[in-house]
Amino acid sequence: MRVFPDPILRQRARKVTQFDAKLARLAADMVETMDAHHGVGLAANQVGSLQRLCVVKLADWDEAMTLVNPEIMRREGDREVEEGCLSLPGYRGMVNRAVRIRVRFQDLTGKSVRLNADCTLAQAIEHETDHLNGILYIDHLIAHDQFFRITVNDDGDVDYLPTGQPDAAELEAAALRMNRRINNPTTPHPPEPPQFDPTNGRPTTDRTPADAAGTSAD
Ligand code: ZN
Repeated sequence: MRVFPDPILRQRARKVTQFDAKLARLAADMVETMDAHHGVGLAANQVGSLQRLCVVKLADWDEAMTLVNPEIMRREGDREVEEGCLSLPGYRGMVNRAVRIRVRFQDLTGKSVRLNADCTLAQAIEHETDHLNGILYIDHLIAHDQFFRITVNDDGDVDYLPTGQPDAAELEAAALRMNRRINNPTTPHPPEPPQFDPTNGRPTTDRTPADAAGTSAD
């Protein structure tokens, strides 16, 4: 997993023109990596490939969706949601996302697909399409103080500490923890909260980032 500030995360991925077995292999590898990290989405930049390809798999899906050359044609509505990214482990932020989107992409055979998506799926597709353009969710924070370093205790409670910038040493430590968890699933580290809020913008924990920000200002 490429972790911020790896420069590949800031590069624009190139349009896919060859729909061959190599592309299918890359997509399958990405699904495997996403599943291992309990992710909801993953873009090719994050595994070191500059192809316009991403995979998405919501929590209740059996199969992942692969989007090749995705292009968001229309965005409707506006909502504030909590978001995380596998390339910024240990951090969360509040961002604005659309309520509904219309996206055009190709499947692994090159067939053109049009899809209307809302809520978590729309959020995931916006997030992954951004990756392919070198954009990260930290570019969309609704305010500088809406970026948090998170800690998860053994009971699974999440604490949000407002922070200004992602810290390279913290990211490295979080990436190491993440890899340890994957290589040794019995390691008793509580998993991080999901990348995208599955409850449609409502906090996933009883302690919201807004509460945490308020507390720290006291
Ligand atoms: Zn991401």
